[in-house]
Amino acid sequence: MKIKSLKLKNYRNYDFLNLDFDDAANIFYGDNAQGKTNILEAVYLSGTTKSHRGAKDRELIRFGKDESHIEAVVEKNGIDYQLDMHLKKNGAKGIAINKMPIRKASELFGIVNLVFFSPEDLNIIKNGPSERRRFIDMELSQLDKVYLSNLSNYNRIVNQRNHLLKEMRADNEGNLRDTLEIWDMQLIRYGNQLLERRMEFIREINHIIFSIHGKLTGGREEIQVIYEPSNGSLTLEQALSKNRERDIRIKSTSVGPHRDDICFMTGELDIRRFGSQGQQRTAALSLKLSEIELVKQAAKDTPVLLLDDVLSELDKHRQNYLLDSINDIQTLITCTGVEDFVNHRFSINKVFHVHNGQ
Ligand code: ATP
Ligand code: MG
Repeated sequence: MKIKSLKLKNYRNYDFLNLDFDDAANIFYGDNAQGKTNILEAVYLSGTTKSHRGAKDRELIRFGKDESHIEAVVEKNGIDYQLDMHLKKNGAKGIAINKMPIRKASELFGIVNLVFFSPEDLNIIKNGPSERRRFIDMELSQLDKVYLSNLSNYNRIVNQRNHLLKEMRADNEGNLRDTLEIWDMQLIRYGNQLLERRMEFIREINHIIFSIHGKLTGGREEIQVIYEPSNGSLTLEQALSKNRERDIRIKSTSVGPHRDDICFMTGELDIRRFGSQGQQRTAALSLKLSEIELVKQAAKDTPVLLLDDVLSELDKHRQNYLLDSINDIQTLITCTGVEDFVNHRFSINKVFHVHNGQ
C-alpha cells in the first residue's frame, strides 16, 4: 500500500497542513519540537485509530481548539481510500472510510499496513516484558482480526476477574468462588487462542530474523526468539488453578498471556539480561526488520514504514543496512538534518523542511 496525502486541521501544533507524499522516500527534517513526529503520528493514527506513543485522543487536539480533523488518502491494490478522523474535546471520535462511518478499528486493518519504528523500539530487548507483549499484540492485531477480537475479550475478562478478586472477602467467598470459576473458563478459552497465535507468530519471526541478524552481525551471532508463557510447562488451566489461592490473596491474576514474555537468545546468552547495549540494540533492529518482512508476507503487500529519528541512533554499518533493506517500500523518515543521507546511495525523493507547525 501507499499513502498519497495527508491533511491536518488543528492537530497537535498544526493549524492547517496539506501534504502530498512520494511513493518512495520522504524526508522530514527540522529542529527539535517543530512537528516532525506529529506528522508520523497523524499517519499512524489514521491507519490504526491510535497514537503510536499512546497519547489520549484529546491530547492530539491543538491547544485551545475544540476539534481536530485528520484526512489521509491511501492506495491499496490500485484503489484509493479516503480515511477521515474527527476528534472532539468532549471525547467523541468519528472515523470514516470513503465517507462511510465505521465502528471498529479492525475495518481499517484490511486496507492499511504500517510499521512504526522509533528510537524506543531499540530498547525493546532491554526494557521490561510489557513492551515486548505490546509489540506482539500491536502486530498481531493489525494482521489478524480474530486475534484482535480475542485480545479485547481476554483483556476484559482479566479486568473483571481482577475486580472480582478485589471484592472477595472471607464472608462472601463461597458465592464469589463460583463466579471466579466462570471467569476462569472464559480466561482459559481466550487465553489459549492468544497463546496459540503468539507462538505461531514467534515461529514465523524465527524464520525471518535468523538471516537478518546473521547479516547485521557479520555472521558472528545466531539469534533465536523463544516465547515464554507465564504458565511455564503447565497448561493455562493447571496454572490458574495452582495459583488460585495466591491470586485471591494478592487480588490480581498472576498467570496468563498478559504476563508472558519473549526471550532473545544468542547461543547460550539471554540477550535481555546479559547482552551488551550494542547486542540488545542490534537484536531490536533485527526484530523490527523482521516485522517489516513478516507484514509483507502476511498482508501480501508492502507496508509503509514510519521511521522516527532512528538513523541518528545507529552507527554507519547499521544505518546502511537499514537503508538498504527499505529501498523498495514507501518510507516517511524524520531527522534533524539531511547529512545522514549524503554519503548513501539511498535515493531521497521528497524532502520537507518542518518549521514551527509548517
Ligand atoms: P524532536 O526532533 O524533538 O523529536 P519534533 O519535530 O518531532 O521534535 P513533535 O513531537 O512533532 O516535534 O512536537 C512538536 C511540538 O508540538 C511540541 O513542541 C509540542 O509542544 C507541540 N504540541 C504537542 N501537542 C500539542 C497540542 N495538542 N497542541 C499544540 N501543540 C502541541
Ligand atoms: Mg520527534
